[in-house]
Amino acid sequence: MKEKLSVFILDLIKQASTDLAPDVEKSLIDAMNKEEQGSMPQSAFATILENVKMAREYVTPMCQDTGSLLFYIHLPVGMDFEPIRNSIRIAAEKATKTYLLRPNAVDPVTGKNSGTNIGLNAPFFHFYQWDRDDIRIDLMLKGGGSENVGAQYKLPYAPLKAGRDLKGVKKCVIDAVYTAQGKGCAPGVIGVGIGGDRVSSYELSKEVLLRKFGERSDDPVLAEVEKELYDKLNSLGIGPMGFGGKTTVLEVFCGKYHRHPACFFVTISYMCWACRRKTLVLKREDFEND
Ligand code: SF4
Repeated sequence: MKEKLSVFILDLIKQASTDLAPDVEKSLIDAMNKEEQGSMPQSAFATILENVKMAREYVTPMCQDTGSLLFYIHLPVGMDFEPIRNSIRIAAEKATKTYLLRPNAVDPVTGKNSGTNIGLNAPFFHFYQWDRDDIRIDLMLKGGGSENVGAQYKLPYAPLKAGRDLKGVKKCVIDAVYTAQGKGCAPGVIGVGIGGDRVSSYELSKEVLLRKFGERSDDPVLAEVEKELYDKLNSLGIGPMGFGGKTTVLEVFCGKYHRHPACFFVTISYMCWACRRKTLVLKREDFEND
């Protein structure tokens, strides 16, 4: 199982690193077409899109920072997750050796890069069991620059006069994107985790980034918040790479968790234009009896 599965996963990593998803690419094209011909933002989008095209054509990473590897894995009930974890490690190491990934796992105490993308909690794994017979593996490659401009707020938050309500939530999201000022390689894709504890709020803010562009929250109130934030953030004028223009964010995705009565966290994960995520769905028989 390990061998065969690692081949599938290596291909998943290759696709995520080199082939931007069509919904993200379309959104970049639409954003470019909104800008004036020859303007700085138009030219920034044209460069990004040329880069996307070349990465796909030459099967090379679309950015020098190939990010941290975040795997979200759904398994049939009772299936052992250890063989999957091992297959992913084998694939990540091979992908690093073949330059599909940059070595991005550094020991924070010694400062030593493992050179393989393997380390303590690297790659990141999130396992879930579900009542189905197939396996779904979602991979997100999360760049360091965009990760650095993520933020967490605790409501109420006096500096923004943000109260413990959705109005306060929106103020925090706008503040986080305004503070980023194009750093993290705008235009960004904004993931918002509302509620939960500190950790789950951060996790949620990343998980919502797996949604397809245009896929609104199934909570009708949050779906409206997403649309409102999209319009407000795009009126900030920060634009691609901070060059100004009409598009500062490509998408806004919100999620919510119940919270402790005393806590109200709002967490923003910022994904750069290189919004790299791909999905692999396998049937057990695809790799069992290997
Ligand atoms: S933020 Fe994204 S696009 Fe910018 S350098 Fe990092 S991975 Fe690349």
